Amino acid sequence: MGGNEQNYVNEAFETNWVAPLGPNVNGFEQDISNYIGIKNQFHTAALTSGTAALHLALRMLNVGKDDVVMVQSFTFCGTTNPVSYQGAELVFIDSDLDTWNMCPLALKDALEHYKNRSVKAIMPVHLYGMPAKMDEIQQIADEYNVPIIEDAAEALGSKFKNKSCGTLGEMAALSFNGNKIITTSGGGALVSKNKHYIDQARFLATQARDEAPHYQHSQIGYNYRMSNIVAGIGRGQMEVIEERVAQRRANNQRYRKFFEGVAGITFQTEPSNDYFSNYWLTAILIDPNLTGGISREFVRLALDVDNIESRPLWKPMHMQPVYEGTRFFGSGVCEKLFEQGLCLPSGSNLTEKDFERIFIALVKIFKK
Ligand SMILES: *Cc1c(COP(=O)(O)O)cnc(C)c1O
Repeated sequence: MGGNEQNYVNEAFETNWVAPLGPNVNGFEQDISNYIGIKNQFHTAALTSGTAALHLALRMLNVGKDDVVMVQSFTFCGTTNPVSYQGAELVFIDSDLDTWNMCPLALKDALEHYKNRSVKAIMPVHLYGMPAKMDEIQQIADEYNVPIIEDAAEALGSKFKNKSCGTLGEMAALSFNGNKIITTSGGGALVSKNKHYIDQARFLATQARDEAPHYQHSQIGYNYRMSNIVAGIGRGQMEVIEERVAQRRANNQRYRKFFEGVAGITFQTEPSNDYFSNYWLTAILIDPNLTGGISREFVRLALDVDNIESRPLWKPMHMQPVYEGTRFFGSGVCEKLFEQGLCLPSGSNLTEKDFERIFIALVKIFKK
């Protein structure tokens, strides 16, 4: 927490705005819109989760049964579950080695293959804060006339060609879950340049209640709106977002320095100056052929012995039991990323002492 969150929450209590609407919700939405773009250019709906935001984005595009959605396979289930909620067919797309995100070539293959089907959306993800190759993806999306929904859940504060992640597609989802770069304990947002989408999302997020004195419904809605209490935390967090990005990027720099000259370790890295990652998590690949047999799992378990938590990267969705038999386009880059990839401790609040402890453990492992 940054410090001011408690004041916004207290204000909600003092004014008795304990409701799924109120000044903190409006204020938080304004803060996000202003942060990601030029004033009044973007619109934001604050919601209960990033998953809810993606679900509403699919509803905005009328994704349903018989439709196809192309999704980056290398991601968290929050990206894919909403497609399944809508009963649409998922087609999984491989990652490229530069960004670890959606591979434009594999996407093109998939779109060509599915050109006689109703492909309703393309969903790239900016994993660990790294922007996907949005120019290439957009160009292919335009060619096949399919809108892009960005999963920017991990990428608040990241930029591609100086534009914020979350402003690069037709719509985007943000997440404020407890583990994200800023948090409201749980929460998310849908953002778009298109005000109609955001108005409509707010409507569906409050049980699709038609204008009437009684309860009247002509559509199926959801209870997805963020509460005024939770949004108070968000307003406080938006005051420290730049500080959080700086902290995460500083963590990343420290790990890079540590691993300088260690064979077999590569980082998820900004491919050029067009990319600015918030480095939400510092993620590395460990190639046992070059480390003298030290594997990802060996490192993870050795750190765990010293009570230091690290995690494998996301297990690709086409490898998940629940999506067995689903189409996958690509050469298996994301399978290799999963096999060799590790997220290192990356919290914004890591202290000098924490880093000392982490580096002592890593020195033992790599005999550095
Ligand atoms: C966290 C996350 C989500 C979902 O956000 P929630 O707020 O937890 O529902 C979706 N996609 C990715 C890539 C995420 O990391």
